[in-house]
Amino acid sequence: MAKNQPNLPAFYWQLQKKQKRISALLFILLFIFYLVAFGLLLAVILLGVQVFLPGSNPFSSPHFYLYAAGIILIAAAVTVINFLQAKKTGASYILSNLRAYPPDPDDRYHLSFINVADEMKISSGLLRLKTYIIPSVNVNSLSLFDRDNTPAIAVTEGLLAEASRDELQAVAAHEVAHITKGDTFLFTLICSLTAFYENLIDSLEKETDYQQGYQLSRSRQRGTSAPLAYVASFISFLLIKFFTMLISQNRELLADATAVELGRDPAALARIIYKAWIANSYLGDTSILTPLFLVPPNSKEITESTWGQLFNTHPPVEKRLGLLAGMTHQSVEEIKNEVRHQEKLREESRQVIKASSEGDSLEREKAILNLKEQAENELRKAEVWEIKQVGGQWAGPFTLGALVSQPAFSPAIRVRNLKENIEGRALEFPQIRFALYRQGKNQPVDPALANCCPVCQTQLQESFYEGVQIRICPACAGRVVRIEDIEKILARQEYDFSERLKEKAGLYKEALLDPGKRASVFPKKKPLPCPICGLQLVVKPFNYYYIFPVYKCYQCQVIWFEPDELEILQILFKIRDE
Ligand SMILES: [Zn+2]
Ligand SMILES: [Zn+2]
Repeated sequence: MAKNQPNLPAFYWQLQKKQKRISALLFILLFIFYLVAFGLLLAVILLGVQVFLPGSNPFSSPHFYLYAAGIILIAAAVTVINFLQAKKTGASYILSNLRAYPPDPDDRYHLSFINVADEMKISSGLLRLKTYIIPSVNVNSLSLFDRDNTPAIAVTEGLLAEASRDELQAVAAHEVAHITKGDTFLFTLICSLTAFYENLIDSLEKETDYQQGYQLSRSRQRGTSAPLAYVASFISFLLIKFFTMLISQNRELLADATAVELGRDPAALARIIYKAWIANSYLGDTSILTPLFLVPPNSKEITESTWGQLFNTHPPVEKRLGLLAGMTHQSVEEIKNEVRHQEKLREESRQVIKASSEGDSLEREKAILNLKEQAENELRKAEVWEIKQVGGQWAGPFTLGALVSQPAFSPAIRVRNLKENIEGRALEFPQIRFALYRQGKNQPVDPALANCCPVCQTQLQESFYEGVQIRICPACAGRVVRIEDIEKILARQEYDFSERLKEKAGLYKEALLDPGKRASVFPKKKPLPCPICGLQLVVKPFNYYYIFPVYKCYQCQVIWFEPDELEILQILFKIRDE
């Protein structure tokens, strides 16, 4: 392919030359940074010596040149280590920090991103371009150089949900523009250099966590006792500020302009920048990654003061919109109105989803109730296993799947089968051996129950909801959703909900705020088997914000949503700021 386009090698050669120049420049700047930092440190120490040892003047001592040489050596060594480490692990750190993963071609939204990126790759003349998805409901995008030095663009689920196709093209064009201009290479390297310290802080904090016997918490609160962590945080903070001042905000405007050359649609780019700016673009603790993003992740807090401007990586949004609007025959206000109009149209065209039994005939309701009762009976009949506890009492009865999911269960533990009236070590029972064998092979513990609704035992069906593949019970409307897909469902809002569902969600919201109401609003959950692996589902709060209980299987990484639960979650998420 490259042979048919004679200008390609030249373009690549240019890009590579640019990258080498950027590398060299950053290396020198980093060296200067460390030289100044260590120099100041030495000066402070020497001043201290002078104060405490009157009469000595370390600055004029013959050793002073030695000190200076030492500082230069140390600064050089730290620069080399920091630089090499950044090149080696920077991209991995950035991607894992964002929990980014490759798009799934089976997902409608992801597929359109893959296609748009492909088109952009061809029209820009890039040989390779990777794509990543950031599982966040916020609206943003970025470009970076991957571990193997391939350029990549990443978008959030929120952006995929919000952007129309022309806007997605504009975003891809903006990111590809950054790549071809060399910005992406520069930003990736800068972020990687600071990531070195973030990594260090992380590992120091993990160590203190471990020492103090804490469980590893996902929250990254600063302020552990390790003094080294403070020093590392401080250096990382200084490095960010230092490099941020060097990054010209004009790069962002230039990328906007080049994106228009590539995509030829300034209005679409303006619309999506505005959408991202007003949507919450916060992406967790990613302060070191700010220069990489389409709009700064803290766009809601940014002040447009002159002092603030100095440390901002991005130009003011009004300026960007103004320049883009200037390329069309529209005003900034017209572009903003268009975004609002689009949103209103989407709102009006949404199909309304009803609560589970809303509008059902009496017969249907009865039939479902019947099914549930039968299934419940079957389940109770299968509860023939008991397990001997430490104190000698028997716990149970359990189904086979529930038995092997008990935390106390081990192949050597004593169990008894109430139906056959036999007691013995677990491994002595062929049923248990069979179940463990299947479990070890990642197969359902009880093949007869596999892919059946745990509530009414109807065969589950494959279905799509908000562009995500799920399994649904055609009778009772319970659903199996992969945990990794929940953010997609929350970001995408293809449907509206009936008044009854909204009322129900309102009750949930009240209960979330008022612990006294929880017992009456949140449903009691009986033990149920996972419809995929057959082990017992655990009942856990959905997450820290939405603490109502749901059924989870950590083995299969899925949630079993009872009827209406998923919709209630979607409504709660939609009204979170109200
Ligand atoms: Zn069902
Ligand atoms: Zn499971």
